[in-house]
Amino acid sequence: MIITLKKDALQNEIDLLIDELEKLGIIVNLIQGNNFNVLGLVGDTSKVDEQRLKAYEWIKDVTRIAAPYKLANRMFHPEDTIVDVSGIKVGGNNPIVIIGGPCAVEGLEPIISVANKVKDAGGVMLRGGAYKPRTSPYAFQGMGYEGILAMKEASNKTKLPIVSELMSADKIDEFVENVDLIQIGARNMQNFDLLKAVGKINKPILLKRGLSATIEEWIMSAEYIMAAGNPNVILCERGIRTFEKYTRNTLDLAVIPIIKERTHLPIIIDPSHAAGDYKLIESISLAAIAAGADGLIIEVHENPSCAWSDGAQSLKPEKFKTLIEKAKKVANAVDREIL
Ligand code: PEP
Ligand code: MN
Repeated sequence: MIITLKKDALQNEIDLLIDELEKLGIIVNLIQGNNFNVLGLVGDTSKVDEQRLKAYEWIKDVTRIAAPYKLANRMFHPEDTIVDVSGIKVGGNNPIVIIGGPCAVEGLEPIISVANKVKDAGGVMLRGGAYKPRTSPYAFQGMGYEGILAMKEASNKTKLPIVSELMSADKIDEFVENVDLIQIGARNMQNFDLLKAVGKINKPILLKRGLSATIEEWIMSAEYIMAAGNPNVILCERGIRTFEKYTRNTLDLAVIPIIKERTHLPIIIDPSHAAGDYKLIESISLAAIAAGADGLIIEVHENPSCAWSDGAQSLKPEKFKTLIEKAKKVANAVDREIL
C-alpha cells in the first residue's frame, strides 16, 4: 500500500500514523519527494482501513497494491484448495463435477424421479432448493424442511450428494445435518451475518456471485467465511446484471481464469441462472469447461413447462445427458476429465 502525503503534513501526525501502522506489524518506509512525501507499506495491509486514511486532510491519496483479501489469496496459499463434498473432490486437477436438479424441490416423488434421471445422465450431485429466494412474495417460496427431507431421501436412494440453498442462519443445524454442499445464493452474497455463521461450520459452502458484485466483493465474501474458520469454499459464477436483455444475466466467463490466478478456490459455473433460457445452456456450459471451470450446476426438470420455478431455463434430462457427453470432449481438449 502506498500513502501519498501532502507537503504540509505535520511530522507529529505522520509519526502517530507510522506508529499505528507498525503496531499492526507493517514495515513503513518514508520516501521524500519534491512535491509529495510517500509512505510505502510492506507486510499484511488487509487490516488497514483505507477509507479512514483517506479522511485525513493531510493525506493526498491511498493506493492499494496488494488485494484486500488474505486467506483466499493465491499469493499466500499457492496450492489449489480441494473441497471434499461427501467424498467428491472439487478443484485442483480433480475431474470436473456436473451437478443437476430442479430449481426447487416439488415433492418427494418428483425429486426422487429427477434424481435418478440426473444420475443416469452422468450428474454426480443433486441440486434442489427447499427455501427459495423469490422476487415476488406471492411466488412459491419452497417446501421448507419437508423439501430438505425429500432431498435427503433422494440422496439416500441415489447416493448423490445434495446441494441446497440456506437463506437464514436459524436453519443452519438443519442444513448441517442433511445437506452435503450448502449454497449461499446470489442475493445473500453480502449477508455478512450469514457468511460469518457458515464460517463457523466445516461443511462445504457454494458461494454464488451477487447480482451486481465485483469479483473483489465476491472474493471478500469468501474471505468472510474463511476468516470465521471455514476454508471449504467453492465459488459459483451465475451471471451478473448488465444492460443486456436477451439473457437473464450476463455470464462472465473471464472470472474463471481471474479467480484461478488470484485465489486458490475452486470455481463452478451456473449457466441456468446466467442464461435464463434452456436453449443457451449447452453452448455456455461447454464454453465454461473450455475456460477451466471445475464444475457446472445446471437446472434439470422432467417437465419444464410445469416447473414451479425457473422452467424456462431448465433442461430436460435427455438434453442434460447430451450436454454431459459433449462436455467430455471439450474437457479432453483442455486436459481435464468429467467425473
Ligand atoms: C438457485 O440456485 O436456484 C438460485 C436462486 O440461484 P441464484 O442465487 O444464483 O439466483
Ligand atoms: Mn432457479
